[in-house]
Amino acid sequence: MQDAIVIGGGISGLTAGHQLQQKGLDISVLEKSLHPGGPIQSLEQNGFLLEKGPNSLLLPDPWVERFIDDLGLSDKLQEASPLANKRYIVRRGRPVAVPMSALQAVTTRLFSFKAKLGFLGEPFRRKISDKKGDSETVARFVRRRMGQEFLDYAINPFVNGVYAGDPNELILEYAFPLMRGFERDGGSIIKGALQYRKRRKREGTSYKKRSISFENGLHTLPKTIARKLGNRLWLGSSVVAINRNDQGWQVTWKRDGENFEGFAKNILVCLPSQAIKTLAWPQPMAEHLQASPDLPYPAVHSLALGYRRDQIAHPLDGFGALVPSKESPDILGVLFSSSLYPGRAPEGHCLLTVMIGGRQRADLAEASQDELMAIAEKDLGTLLGASGEPCFSHLTSWPQAIPQYTKEFGPWKQILRDLEADYSGLHFGGNSIDGIAMGASILSGKNLAEKIG
Ligand SMILES: Cc1cc2nc3c(=O)[nH]c(=O)nc-3n(C[C@H](O)[C@H](O)[C@H](O)COP(=O)(O)OP(=O)(O)OC[C@H]3O[C@@H](n4cnc5c(N)ncnc54)[C@H](O)[C@@H]3O)c2cc1C
Repeated sequence: MQDAIVIGGGISGLTAGHQLQQKGLDISVLEKSLHPGGPIQSLEQNGFLLEKGPNSLLLPDPWVERFIDDLGLSDKLQEASPLANKRYIVRRGRPVAVPMSALQAVTTRLFSFKAKLGFLGEPFRRKISDKKGDSETVARFVRRRMGQEFLDYAINPFVNGVYAGDPNELILEYAFPLMRGFERDGGSIIKGALQYRKRRKREGTSYKKRSISFENGLHTLPKTIARKLGNRLWLGSSVVAINRNDQGWQVTWKRDGENFEGFAKNILVCLPSQAIKTLAWPQPMAEHLQASPDLPYPAVHSLALGYRRDQIAHPLDGFGALVPSKESPDILGVLFSSSLYPGRAPEGHCLLTVMIGGRQRADLAEASQDELMAIAEKDLGTLLGASGEPCFSHLTSWPQAIPQYTKEFGPWKQILRDLEADYSGLHFGGNSIDGIAMGASILSGKNLAEKIG
């Protein structure tokens, strides 16, 4: 009888497994694919170092920093260049820098004079009832508090960049709970944010979030954890049956055509929602889960393009550029990857990572490589003055990239929480329930491990 079997070797499951191993517990981690870390995959090719999935880890709190240190990765850590603070949003077909100071906010071309006056009124707008606020979409909330233009040219591109999502579908309470709390507790976004900042200072819990990666790319993190887990990590292993008896859980999985069996007091399930729903659960769990709502997971294409530096007119002095859906480019946005971290492109070259698809461009989910290349080259030509063909390209398509915290999310999460309450030793984590950023998944794994032992 083991202490725990973790199902799913993405960053949440790996973190949970690692923390349990550190406590000296007996565990196994089962991962369907042949590599650890889910979408966290880096590739070195032709002198370029690209990310197939996430590009940066935004450190959410000091624990994650200590975790990276404990893994022995501090000397491989790369801080994002200070340039990363500068972000562009496309307006009238051109990238415009997002204002970073009060003076820039007054003078920026990103918003009209009328919109700027509208923002000033935000603290004086009445808040809505908590009940109404519970189910409000991001779009409705932003329109109500800040106006249509702020929705179109700040929040819409931001939501494209973070969720590849649609603000008309995401529920504020689920997708941006902090922002919802600002209005609920502080009466307005601005007042709530100021109160929040003051409280954190007073409590000594302020923390300046920073974007990081590693010398050999982000996959250094899952690879290092995988190495530490050693033969406790079962790659290429598909769960074929889960059963329960008085002592705990019996899990059967298949690797290379052979069946293996494990018994554990706890199972920690860190899978995408569809995978959770279709696992071979015992009845009545299976029936319960099959009837649960589906979270939308839009497709996203990540296209890494290498250019000679002199082919790009733009200074590439920032994190990247995001495209509001109102604007004509077809891409979601472009990251200036080689401006963010050193060693991403050979001397005299640059690496750009173009994101295409998402919830608002579902029509591009099945676009071919040629179509995607044509879209990227057209849009980079207009936005960044890219000329000629890229000298390097690599496409990764994620048919189900990121869970959307839409109206289905609340009932979904409740079903998982009810199952945890009904079945001892059953725990759920990962991005289908605990937040969609890498940092949130790391904390989800940590929190799961703290429940056991
Ligand atoms: C294109 C893209 C760009 C992104 N960019 C960023 C970014 O820049 N910054 C950021 O913070 N986040 C980013 N994210 C989000 C972030 O990468 C994920 O939210 C995070 O890695 C999720 O980790 P997880 O462990 O919760 O889930 P996952 O990584 O999805 O882990 C689930 C694991 O379960 C495995 N699995 C599935 N079915 C089974 C089964 N039946 N049995 C066993 N194993 C199974 C899967 O193979 C997978 O490894 C991005 C995501 C994508 C796709």
